[in-house]
Amino acid sequence: MTETATKKNALVTGGTRGIGRAIVESLADAGYRVAFTYRSSSSEADSLVDALKGRGVDAMALQGDASSTEKAAEAVEAVTKEWGSIDVLVNNAGITRDNLMIRMSEDDWDAVMTNNLKSVFNFCKAAYRPMMKQRGGRIINISSVVGVTGNPGQTNYAASKAGIIGFSKSLAKELGSRGVTVNVVAPGYVETDMTAKLSDAAREAMVSAIPLQRVAVPEDIAAAVRFLASDGASYITGQTLLVDGGLGM
Ligand code: NAD
Repeated sequence: MTETATKKNALVTGGTRGIGRAIVESLADAGYRVAFTYRSSSSEADSLVDALKGRGVDAMALQGDASSTEKAAEAVEAVTKEWGSIDVLVNNAGITRDNLMIRMSEDDWDAVMTNNLKSVFNFCKAAYRPMMKQRGGRIINISSVVGVTGNPGQTNYAASKAGIIGFSKSLAKELGSRGVTVNVVAPGYVETDMTAKLSDAAREAMVSAIPLQRVAVPEDIAAAVRFLASDGASYITGQTLLVDGGLGM
């Protein structure tokens, strides 16, 4: 059953795998047309579009690095041109470059800030005017529990993810009068390629600290995003929803 009477259009950054892919599929299940960006994995992008179209979903894959201002503007323009509006923007693309501060290079710092925080600025800036004109829209930015709690070895990542929270609250205040909501979903430990490189010992230590005693699957995060995009969330803005099994409380 769809949650939207008329088709709404969603754009998800970094949509070919992990949490982004689960968000794409969940929004498609909820009846949205879904566009997603990808940086280099064109075969995964094509097969995801084919799979969605096979299910009768209007889907679009847009190549581009989310940290490029031009590419972000092009992606938003492609959606508004093709489908007429952009109703939901999910800023999901992100990377890690972990290291203790003493060994963290300037390049590790810049790469994480650019991929995780500037990319959010880029897409929100591109969607700002169309959403303002529409007098409606949903922006959902993916942060991390680490942006709230901090984590050794992740000063760059935590700063970028905390930055997303302050950014989103500010934008929520700017756009509230136009009927646009801006919220943050902050996942805890989610089983994806990003976390696959952790050792078994680190994984076990992490799970034992989670009150719900399990790691998340990408669908746990997608469900929260889908809720924040839905009509039922129309009076929620500027919030950060931790989807972390209780890890960050
Ligand atoms: P992932 O590495 O499996 O997938 C991330 C996707 O984003 C990839 O497809 C990657 O190519 C894309 N991407 C990264 N930078 C990009 C850029 N500049 N332009 C375009 N695409 C880009 O990671 P994931 O675990 O699915 O993470 C998704 C989001 O969730 C990230 O923002 C991450 O920081 C956040 N997050 C993940 C976890 C976790 O435990 N996995 C926890 C908290 C937050």
